[in-house]
Amino acid sequence: MSTDKKEPATRYCYHCRTHHPVEEMRLLVTKTGSRWRCIKSIEAVKRSKEERDAYGRQVSAANQAEASGRARMLNKIQRGL
Ligand SMILES: [Zn+2]
Repeated sequence: MSTDKKEPATRYCYHCRTHHPVEEMRLLVTKTGSRWRCIKSIEAVKRSKEERDAYGRQVSAANQAEASGRARMLNKIQRGL
């Protein structure tokens, strides 16, 4: 009797392209079907998106300041010619 042979409860993670334990996985339903993806990668993307958003706000503020500075300078140059 060898009925105690347990199947490894893993799922293929399409994000990491490897297998993870099923309890670390989430089933995502997409247009093309359902896919398993690990919670870690989902959380990482969520976190990095928040970081990107915060960074993006900083950058756009800096870009605006730079752009208006450049516009002033360009104005000066054009007037000088
Ligand atoms: Zn994964």
